Amino acid sequence: MTKGKAAVAKAWGQPFEIEEFDVPVPEPGGIMVRITQAGICGSDLHLWRGDNVFPRPLPPEGRVGGHEGTGVVAQLGAGISTDFNGTPIAEGDRVMHAAINPCNQCYRCLRGEQNWCVRGRATPPPEQFRMFSGTYAEYYYVPPGRPIFRVPDELPDEALGYVNCAMGTVTEGLSRAGCAEGDYVVIQGAGGLGLNATAMAKDMGAHRVIVLDRIPHRLALAEEFGADFTVNIDEFNTQDTRRDRIWELTDGRGANICVELVGRAELLLEGLEYLGNGGTFIEIGDIIAGDTVPFDPSTLVWGAKRIMGSIMYRPSLLPVMMEMMVKNRDRLPYDKIVSHTYPLEQINEALDVAEWQGKETAVSRAMITP
Ligand SMILES: [Zn+2]
Ligand SMILES: [Zn+2]
Repeated sequence: MTKGKAAVAKAWGQPFEIEEFDVPVPEPGGIMVRITQAGICGSDLHLWRGDNVFPRPLPPEGRVGGHEGTGVVAQLGAGISTDFNGTPIAEGDRVMHAAINPCNQCYRCLRGEQNWCVRGRATPPPEQFRMFSGTYAEYYYVPPGRPIFRVPDELPDEALGYVNCAMGTVTEGLSRAGCAEGDYVVIQGAGGLGLNATAMAKDMGAHRVIVLDRIPHRLALAEEFGADFTVNIDEFNTQDTRRDRIWELTDGRGANICVELVGRAELLLEGLEYLGNGGTFIEIGDIIAGDTVPFDPSTLVWGAKRIMGSIMYRPSLLPVMMEMMVKNRDRLPYDKIVSHTYPLEQINEALDVAEWQGKETAVSRAMITP
């Protein structure tokens, strides 16, 4: 029987342990994927640090880490020979799976809002596949009914690892916020999320995209991804100077959209100050419960601003995003988003390098290559 290694979290805030498991045969309609790349997302760092994000206890056998990533078809279950667009898939083909686990039966799923599914997290895969539900592993199981798409041949491997979390998540947020031609968009943070958000906002027609960060290398990358202006927060080192700079760069109109991709609660208050009347603040980065700021609701009324949260993405966006990447492949350096790669055995070193809390990191995206 084929065996596959996986990085298992046994307790919150503890290093991952590499274990080996027998790889089961997929159910009818299911697909076993051989993972080729698995991204380190901010939420994986929360699990590793032990932050108050996923309050449920871990099962006794532990949980395989990672949710972002991609791979090739290792084995198709009976009755499945195409992806969700009807494109034929065979063993060895590159595929992109939805990194969410919608039930496809609840009110939200039936409305096409699978990323808002109320039951997805409560429906674990059958017992034999439990240790194949994280991407920090050689094998990953895509159960029947989970959307999966063949990767266009034009896309290089180096551009695929972050599509089904980082790119999907920011695309969903911008799309739900109604990002459109003529918009001024401000992006807080130029990591893997921010670089993708920059490219996507421009593709949606944004008139001007302005990116804030403190690391010159990441700001330079943001420009390569289409940022019209960047603001180094060490240069504009107070909230007032940053607000004035943003209003200057938005021609005195304020931003239509501000996206928080750093994960600091105080950036909500700062981001609201960047918005012009009718503007939308999108909270994506701050997923830690208990991180609070004092907030004056009247600031929403005077200016008709809105705050929205966004999480993951509708799976229908996956092929759309990959087509967008194909269209822009000669113009945007998608292979540069991944700044560091590590073998599976070095998962804990990789997390340590990607860690940004309490220090600076030049990492835009770290990738595990099992
Ligand atoms: Zn993620
Ligand atoms: Zn559902």
